[in-house]
Amino acid sequence: MNDCIFCKIVKGEIPCNKVYEDKNVLAFLDISPVNIGHSLVVPKKHYVNIYETPEDILIEMMKAVKKISHAIKNGLQADGINVNMNNDPAAGQVVFHSHIHVIPRIANDGFGPWHSKRPYKEGEKELVVQKIIQAL
Ligand code: 5GP
Ligand code: ZN
Repeated sequence: MNDCIFCKIVKGEIPCNKVYEDKNVLAFLDISPVNIGHSLVVPKKHYVNIYETPEDILIEMMKAVKKISHAIKNGLQADGINVNMNNDPAAGQVVFHSHIHVIPRIANDGFGPWHSKRPYKEGEKELVVQKIIQAL
Protein backbone atom coordinates (compact mmCIF):
# COMPACT_ATOMS: atom_id res chain seq x y z
CA MET A 1 0.00 0.00 0.00
CA ASN A 2 1.91 3.02 -1.29
CA ASP A 3 0.07 5.78 0.52
CA CYS A 4 -0.59 3.98 3.83
CA ILE A 5 1.00 5.86 6.73
CA PHE A 6 1.47 2.73 8.87
CA CYS A 7 3.06 0.82 5.96
CA LYS A 8 5.49 3.72 5.62
CA ILE A 9 6.26 3.49 9.36
CA VAL A 10 6.79 -0.28 9.07
CA LYS A 11 9.17 0.27 6.14
CA GLY A 12 11.04 2.99 8.07
CA GLU A 13 10.10 5.68 5.54
CA ILE A 14 8.40 7.67 8.32
CA PRO A 15 9.90 7.72 11.83
CA CYS A 16 8.10 6.33 14.86
CA ASN A 17 8.82 5.85 18.54
CA LYS A 18 9.02 2.06 18.62
CA VAL A 19 8.08 0.25 21.83
CA TYR A 20 8.00 -3.34 20.53
CA GLU A 21 8.76 -5.36 17.42
CA ASP A 22 8.74 -8.99 16.38
CA LYS A 23 8.46 -10.94 13.11
CA ASN A 24 4.87 -9.97 12.34
CA VAL A 25 4.09 -6.99 14.54
CA LEU A 26 5.32 -3.46 15.24
CA ALA A 27 4.17 -1.24 18.12
CA PHE A 28 4.88 2.46 18.54
CA LEU A 29 3.60 5.54 20.35
CA ASP A 30 0.46 7.14 18.95
CA ILE A 31 1.37 10.61 17.67
CA SER A 32 -1.70 12.13 19.39
CA PRO A 33 -1.91 10.24 22.67
CA VAL A 34 -5.12 10.01 24.66
CA ASN A 35 -2.81 9.60 27.66
CA ILE A 36 0.99 9.54 27.73
CA GLY A 37 2.24 6.13 26.58
CA HIS A 38 -0.76 5.44 24.29
CA SER A 39 0.61 2.87 21.85
CA LEU A 40 -0.53 1.28 18.60
CA VAL A 41 0.05 -2.36 17.68
CA VAL A 42 0.07 -2.94 13.93
CA PRO A 43 0.74 -5.93 11.70
CA LYS A 44 3.81 -5.45 9.50
CA LYS A 45 1.77 -6.57 6.49
CA HIS A 46 -1.05 -4.34 5.30
CA TYR A 47 -4.59 -5.38 6.24
CA VAL A 48 -7.35 -2.80 6.38
CA ASN A 49 -9.20 -3.88 9.51
CA ILE A 50 -10.21 -6.80 11.73
CA TYR A 51 -12.27 -8.40 8.97
CA GLU A 52 -9.24 -8.65 6.65
CA THR A 53 -6.60 -9.52 9.23
CA PRO A 54 -5.94 -13.27 9.39
CA GLU A 55 -6.61 -14.98 12.72
CA ASP A 56 -2.96 -15.95 13.26
CA ILE A 57 -1.89 -12.33 12.81
CA LEU A 58 -4.61 -11.11 15.18
CA ILE A 59 -3.28 -13.58 17.72
CA GLU A 60 0.24 -12.17 17.27
CA MET A 61 -1.16 -8.64 17.65
CA MET A 62 -2.95 -9.59 20.87
CA LYS A 63 0.19 -11.24 22.27
CA ALA A 64 1.99 -7.94 21.70
CA VAL A 65 -0.92 -6.04 23.25
CA LYS A 66 -0.58 -8.15 26.39
CA LYS A 67 3.19 -7.59 26.62
CA ILE A 68 2.80 -3.84 26.10
CA SER A 69 -0.09 -3.63 28.57
CA HIS A 70 2.11 -5.11 31.30
CA ALA A 71 4.98 -2.80 30.32
CA ILE A 72 2.80 0.32 30.32
CA LYS A 73 1.15 -0.60 33.61
CA ASN A 74 4.45 -1.28 35.34
CA GLY A 75 6.75 1.10 33.48
CA LEU A 76 4.43 4.12 33.46
CA GLN A 77 2.52 3.32 36.65
CA ALA A 78 -0.80 3.31 34.80
CA ASP A 79 -3.83 2.64 36.98
CA GLY A 80 -5.58 0.84 34.12
CA ILE A 81 -5.40 0.03 30.42
CA ASN A 82 -7.98 0.29 27.65
CA VAL A 83 -7.51 -1.99 24.63
CA ASN A 84 -9.44 -0.77 21.62
CA MET A 85 -9.70 -1.41 17.90
CA ASN A 86 -11.66 0.86 15.58
CA ASN A 87 -13.00 -0.83 12.47
CA ASP A 88 -14.69 1.23 9.74
CA PRO A 89 -15.28 4.99 9.81
CA ALA A 90 -18.50 4.58 11.79
CA ALA A 91 -16.40 3.15 14.62
CA GLY A 92 -13.83 5.93 14.40
CA GLN A 93 -11.22 4.31 12.14
CA VAL A 94 -9.20 6.96 10.33
CA VAL A 95 -6.05 4.98 9.43
CA PHE A 96 -7.02 2.03 7.26
CA HIS A 97 -4.20 -0.28 8.31
CA SER A 98 -5.36 -2.68 11.01
CA HIS A 99 -4.25 -1.57 14.50
CA ILE A 100 -5.02 -1.99 18.17
CA HIS A 101 -4.82 0.91 20.62
CA VAL A 102 -3.26 0.26 24.04
CA ILE A 103 -4.24 3.24 26.17
CA PRO A 104 -2.94 3.83 29.69
CA ARG A 105 -5.57 5.09 32.06
CA ILE A 106 -4.97 7.15 35.17
CA ALA A 107 -7.54 7.22 37.96
CA ASN A 108 -9.88 10.19 37.45
CA ASP A 109 -8.26 11.13 34.12
CA GLY A 110 -11.59 12.44 32.92
CA PHE A 111 -12.30 9.81 30.27
CA GLY A 112 -15.45 8.31 31.65
CA PRO A 113 -17.05 5.00 30.75
CA TRP A 114 -19.18 4.61 27.61
CA HIS A 115 -22.81 5.34 28.20
CA SER A 116 -25.67 3.04 27.28
CA LYS A 117 -27.80 4.54 24.54
CA ARG A 118 -31.00 2.78 25.60
CA PRO A 119 -32.08 -0.41 27.34
CA TYR A 120 -33.32 -3.44 25.33
CA LYS A 121 -37.01 -3.55 24.52
CA GLU A 122 -39.12 -6.58 25.42
CA GLY A 123 -37.94 -9.59 23.35
CA GLU A 124 -35.19 -7.62 21.60
CA LYS A 125 -32.25 -9.37 23.30
CA GLU A 126 -33.36 -12.78 22.03
CA LEU A 127 -33.73 -11.44 18.47
CA VAL A 128 -30.31 -9.81 18.56
CA VAL A 129 -28.64 -12.98 19.82
CA GLN A 130 -30.40 -14.98 17.07
CA LYS A 131 -29.13 -12.59 14.37
CA ILE A 132 -25.56 -12.71 15.67
CA ILE A 133 -25.51 -16.49 16.00
CA GLN A 134 -26.97 -16.95 12.51
CA ALA A 135 -24.18 -14.74 11.11
CA LEU A 136 -21.34 -16.60 12.84
P1 5GP B 1 -7.91 5.14 14.41
O1 5GP B 1 -8.86 6.26 14.69
O2 5GP B 1 -7.78 4.85 12.94
O3 5GP B 1 -8.23 3.91 15.22
O4 5GP B 1 -6.52 5.62 14.99
C1 5GP B 1 -5.45 6.05 14.23
C2 5GP B 1 -4.42 6.57 15.19
O5 5GP B 1 -3.21 6.75 14.48
C3 5GP B 1 -4.78 7.92 15.81
O6 5GP B 1 -4.87 7.78 17.22
C4 5GP B 1 -3.64 8.84 15.38
O7 5GP B 1 -3.23 9.72 16.37
C5 5GP B 1 -2.55 7.86 15.01
N1 5GP B 1 -1.67 8.34 13.95
C6 5GP B 1 -2.04 8.88 12.76
N2 5GP B 1 -0.95 9.19 12.03
C7 5GP B 1 0.12 8.81 12.76
C8 5GP B 1 1.53 8.86 12.52
O8 5GP B 1 2.02 9.32 11.50
N3 5GP B 1 2.34 8.38 13.51
C9 5GP B 1 1.84 7.87 14.67
N4 5GP B 1 2.72 7.42 15.57
N5 5GP B 1 0.53 7.80 14.92
C10 5GP B 1 -0.32 8.27 13.98
ZN1 ZN C 1 -0.66 -0.21 5.51
